[in-house]
Amino acid sequence: MATVLVLVTTADGSADKVALQALALGRQLAAGGAVHALVIGDAGVAAGLGAWGATDVHLAQHPALDAPAPDAAARILDDLAGSLGADFVIGPGTEEGNTVLARAAARGGLPFAANCTVVTPGSPVLVTRARWGGSLLEEAAIVAERAVLTVAAHVLEAVETGGSAAVTAFTPQLDDADLAVRVVGRVPAPSGGVSLSDAKVVVSGGRGAGSADGFGPVVELASLLGAAVGCSRAVTIAGWRPHTEQVGQTGTKIAPELYIAAGISGATQHLAGCKGAKRLLAINKDPEAPIMTAADYAVIGDMAEVLPAISAEIRRTRGA
Ligand SMILES: Cc1cc2nc3c(=O)[nH]c(=O)nc-3n(C[C@H](O)[C@H](O)[C@H](O)COP(=O)(O)OP(=O)(O)OC[C@H]3O[C@@H](n4cnc5c(N)ncnc54)[C@H](O)[C@@H]3O)c2cc1C
Repeated sequence: MATVLVLVTTADGSADKVALQALALGRQLAAGGAVHALVIGDAGVAAGLGAWGATDVHLAQHPALDAPAPDAAARILDDLAGSLGADFVIGPGTEEGNTVLARAAARGGLPFAANCTVVTPGSPVLVTRARWGGSLLEEAAIVAERAVLTVAAHVLEAVETGGSAAVTAFTPQLDDADLAVRVVGRVPAPSGGVSLSDAKVVVSGGRGAGSADGFGPVVELASLLGAAVGCSRAVTIAGWRPHTEQVGQTGTKIAPELYIAAGISGATQHLAGCKGAKRLLAINKDPEAPIMTAADYAVIGDMAEVLPAISAEIRRTRGA
């Protein structure tokens, strides 16, 4: 049995999906021991975490924590881990999770293992980590009294256990240094449509679209399917689409039921962002394009012809 502390990050009144996946790992590692969850600020999320496997929920509330502040979160996490005598401190392998856990580890003088795909308890704790956007899997040993790590996005399923847990609210001690870095504003994604990270279907275009206007058929098919629009980095660098739509290592990591990648070669940095997709349909002129190795289905052809043909067929079958 082990004592585990999981940081559950939140957005728009819900727990982050990857944080719930981290909670599922926390339950495995606790092996019947306590699974503590830390939530910062959001009482509604805290109240629901028993159903996702937490045995004890700690809710940090402070007037200055109305926006994410990574140093403050790290201090709260590190202090709580110390008072609980946690064997594991876990967080989601998201930008926010990695930022906070790295700081928490540094505060405690501990090593930090980011983006773990496998964690084997023991002395030392053994981990496999996704590095270089997932193109390298590193096996490492954490030699420390407490293992501080994050869970790579979408390698585990979140598990709804239907349990319940008491929530203990507290006011953390913070000083100005803890609040030096804070989120002071957010710029909404321009599309305002389906969120890329949560979409069930994503239709993406790459350099093969040829121009910003060449994205017309991509957007049209996405709208017919109720899908999100994605793209490759070649496209965002060319300024054809906004960075918020970029899929990949330096873009958004997605896990849709279906990913349609048109005119995208399949560079490792792109595949790092879409390997969570359940099914991949590649549309490409080149049958030798690297994306074919990852594709479940492929259409070899010009995306400017194939995408409108798919849209026309969808309209025809819907009788529109
Ligand atoms: C540190 C780093 C981070 C990176 N992060 C990312 C990232 O997050 N996301 C990302 O996407 N990339 C990323 N990249 C860039 C990546 O290496 C590739 O350069 C990029 O993904 C290529 O984009 P592309 O597939 O659209 O273009 P290309 O590689 O040029 O491929 C275009 C494809 O379109 C096909 N094609 C051309 N015309 C047509 C047509 N009319 N119809 C059908 N097919 C056609 C071609 O056969 C080709 O396969 C990163 C690179 C680095 C170094």
